[in-house]
Amino acid sequence: MQFNTITGQHTAKELLRKMADSQRIPHALMLLGMPGSGDLSLAIAFAQYVLCDDRKDGEACGHCSNCVKAAKFVHPDIHFSFPAVGGTNVTSDTYIGEWRKALAENPYLDANQWLQRLGAENKQGNINKVECLQIIHKLSLKIFEARYKILVMWLPEYLGKEGNRLLKLIEEPPENTLLLLVAQNQELILNTILSRCQLVKVGHLSDEEIEQGLISSLGLAAEKARSIAHLANGNFNEALKIAQLPENDHAGLFLDWLRKCYVGNGVDMAAWTDKLAVLGRENQKQFLQYALHFLREYTQLKTVATAATNGRGIRLLPQELDAAQKLTQFIGPSQIQRIAQLFSDCAYYIERNANQKILFLDASIQLNKIFRDR
Ligand SMILES: [Zn+2]
Repeated sequence: MQFNTITGQHTAKELLRKMADSQRIPHALMLLGMPGSGDLSLAIAFAQYVLCDDRKDGEACGHCSNCVKAAKFVHPDIHFSFPAVGGTNVTSDTYIGEWRKALAENPYLDANQWLQRLGAENKQGNINKVECLQIIHKLSLKIFEARYKILVMWLPEYLGKEGNRLLKLIEEPPENTLLLLVAQNQELILNTILSRCQLVKVGHLSDEEIEQGLISSLGLAAEKARSIAHLANGNFNEALKIAQLPENDHAGLFLDWLRKCYVGNGVDMAAWTDKLAVLGRENQKQFLQYALHFLREYTQLKTVATAATNGRGIRLLPQELDAAQKLTQFIGPSQIQRIAQLFSDCAYYIERNANQKILFLDASIQLNKIFRDR
């Protein structure tokens, strides 16, 4: 993986390049990222960059023997460790084939996607004792081919107290050993580990970065990429998920819903509910996500009404902005609050497998009530 295939994150990339170029790489580095920020990709790209024999202009060459192996996640000096499920003897080695496949498909994946891939269902993953002992063993071996041996550990949060076994390794790793920890929740990591690592923070992506990423990785049209970026809240993994859903006109569906609930004709509301019910749960979740996004932007529009006449700073597409501007005469601040609560509740119940038809019909009736309570 090369840096230029990773969306955004210029500051983190620059920092990592500098470390490698100046040969001053801390032996234990923790990339602390937001979900979907590309933190894992950065760690993997960094490992390749460090091992590359012929880096140029801040990029690994992509064709030396180290690069070729690193790109396929099979370099013998790059070790991976990640949460797994299935008993005390199960380690990252058990799932390394699946791991390589998962990375090739989507290096932005989250813990839940990964554990579901392993068939975890409701089981919690972990990085267990045997895994820790294996890591210590692997890193005590001689280097196979490269200048460094590197451990990329994804989500040290899953170590729990087993992390104590790695303290000595992190504090005084064997010669030419780099530990790259990729974490997302600082509070779940042992302080003793945290304090031994140099932190690199990896923030949310901007809408523009997500838009560019979708255009370059999936070849989406700019407007579609932009509307997905608006919903993804800086999380590229989320953006990829939305892009994979069958194309839905959430905006049209949503405005139609508001209109029908405003008028309050029961037959029309039921017909709309039928239309939404066939979309399936994933789409309904996205739909509600969209609805909440619309309300957020709508509130923004109401509070900065004068400055927003040209829509600057409002994350809505032109036709949505037009609809939102028309709506400002019908929906007041207290109603927005109640509507937002209603949508959040719906999302909660959809997540927990509520009957979709009943849920949305009930929501339509409540929405009508909120409009009438003005
Ligand atoms: Zn190379």
